[in-house]
Amino acid sequence: MKSFWDKCKEELKKQVSRSHYEIWIEPVSIVSMDDDSIVLSVPNNYYIDRINKDYWDTLKDTVKNISKKDLQIKFIIKSAPPESETPNIIPKKEKRQGLRNTNTGLNLKHTFDNFVVGPCNQFAHAATKAIAEGHATYNPLFIYGGVGLGKTHLIQATGNFIVDKNDNRKILYITSENFVNELITSLQHKEMNKFRERYRKLDVLFVDDIHFIAGKERSQEEFFHTFNTIFESHKQIILSSDKYPREIPKLEERLRSRFECGLIADIQPPEFETRVAILKQKGEEHGVNIPQDVVEFIANKVKSNVRELEGYLSRIIAISNLKGREISLQLAEDSFKNIFKTREKVTSISDIQKGVAEYFNVKVIDLKSKKRERNITLPRQVAMYLSKELTNLSLEEIGKSFGGKDHSTVIHSQKKIERLSKENSEILMAIRQIKSSLEL
Ligand code: ADP
Ligand code: MG
Repeated sequence: MKSFWDKCKEELKKQVSRSHYEIWIEPVSIVSMDDDSIVLSVPNNYYIDRINKDYWDTLKDTVKNISKKDLQIKFIIKSAPPESETPNIIPKKEKRQGLRNTNTGLNLKHTFDNFVVGPCNQFAHAATKAIAEGHATYNPLFIYGGVGLGKTHLIQATGNFIVDKNDNRKILYITSENFVNELITSLQHKEMNKFRERYRKLDVLFVDDIHFIAGKERSQEEFFHTFNTIFESHKQIILSSDKYPREIPKLEERLRSRFECGLIADIQPPEFETRVAILKQKGEEHGVNIPQDVVEFIANKVKSNVRELEGYLSRIIAISNLKGREISLQLAEDSFKNIFKTREKVTSISDIQKGVAEYFNVKVIDLKSKKRERNITLPRQVAMYLSKELTNLSLEEIGKSFGGKDHSTVIHSQKKIERLSKENSEILMAIRQIKSSLEL
């Protein structure tokens, strides 16, 4: 086993620059190995993120070349994090790392165990659990709910449960965006047979964010056939969407009617008690005990999105670590004040105009004028672009703030600056500097 890993390291050494090899690969050691998988130990979470991001393909290919098998690669953290002075630290709940299983497309960190069930998601949870346990087939199961409410988590948990249970069902998780991309590639390379074959043999197909295919004719057509094939062979299809089928604009009628013919389960924003339970669960995953008053404080501030809830919690934990302060209500209130201060700043279009005018050394009043000299039009376009990016204002509202321009002018500016910022490093630099002057 050790010599196997030594061989892999030799190989990796050739493919990764020396300094990166020494930092990221050298400290990795092998813990166990069997016919299906190898377990590698790394010093901390950063390694997993970094390897996942930059060296995943290289690592996977190397392991495959040397073992001549398609082994799953798993990571564990070598030693417990160092003891901290603060009494808030509790043993980290065992957490699977966010690695992707390349065969199924699943992210391993989403499980039923770390999904908090409440009245808001109970029905969707029960339906997915029944499928996971092999007790039921609903065709399709259609889960809908707003952004950040746990749709992806829940359907990936279903897939992971099936994989962990090792039943022989063949599954695939894909976002509909990737479905579209793969379709385009297959069409380009004239590999449609291969594309279809991949779906035909599945037992369970998960398509996340299915609304994305609406309005894309070829994709809808192909998905219709994929759907029918799986449906007719009595296999399971699970779909997620941010809307009820009937409310998805530009969705083909025949797809809509199929989506509605199975079981439809919604996920609603979590109630207060569920928000509290989620925060506690996430705190445990971080290995931090969050005091009850802090949990309730956050749960009262953020109501409609679990991702945001998590984001605020992580921020408070990060601030506590950075400043060496214990997590307390005071700390939570202070960090919220900062968050809101930045937010207000971001949403102000006049700050953006001031920032842009200062950077390009022009007057704000000129940005709002009809002047068409290039030294004014470019800054004006940058300011419109930033206004679209950094505020929630509509194109009309932005146009109005620039002396009554119409929305097509704003779109034009937005597109132009988007393009220029890719081609021209000065524009990119300007955008970065203006943003940093706005403290973003
Ligand atoms: P969606 O796909 O609906 O936009 P996600 O599944 O990506 O939302 O969820 C956003 C974040 O919130 C994820 O990190 C997820 O783990 C977390 N989350 C959502 N609902 C729950 C829940 N009930 N219990 C635990 N974590 C949750
Ligand atoms: Mg999602």
